[in-house]
Amino acid sequence: MKKIAIYPGSFDPITNGHIDLVHRASKLFDKVIVGITQNSKKSSFLNIDERIQTTSTALKDIGNVEVLSFNTLLVDFANAQNAQVILRGLRAVSDFEYEFQLSGMNKHLNPNIETLFMTPAEQYANISSSLVREILSLGGDISAFVPKSVETHLKTKL
Ligand code: ADP
Repeated sequence: MKKIAIYPGSFDPITNGHIDLVHRASKLFDKVIVGITQNSKKSSFLNIDERIQTTSTALKDIGNVEVLSFNTLLVDFANAQNAQVILRGLRAVSDFEYEFQLSGMNKHLNPNIETLFMTPAEQYANISSSLVREILSLGGDISAFVPKSVETHLKTKL
């Protein structure tokens, strides 16, 4: 049986922290599916097509990664993709409470799917998509936080 992990998120935009996590996970699983949420309660800066395109470009060098979007329950999406694992990133203690609640809920909805937490390399622990958007909107330099292709797209969008 192939070991498949779903890495879900809004990826608005994908950052170097996300990419670091996908790199690490790609060594542990046969396939990593980056699942981009379409119907998040948050209104997004990049639309779904832009998020799929920028995420796919940013991850194009990692062989066993697929980028898909979904608008169903995460556990149903994982099931449909034959994934056994939901992967989430933990940056700091502040992430923990929400992630703990989410994993408990997903375990309730489908006890067969395991949530696995991974941490990024230290230099990526402070990066978040929302901070990248804020720095961008105020004219700051985001080049240390996102790949060049994402930076170019974000600047065009502005
Ligand atoms: P969401 O909207 O579901 O929080 P995000 O796209 O912001 O989705 O993040 C997706 C996942 O990646 C989450 O588990 C989040 O904690 C994790 N993540 C976000 N930024 C980083 C980072 N810099 N390093 C490691 N994991 C991260």
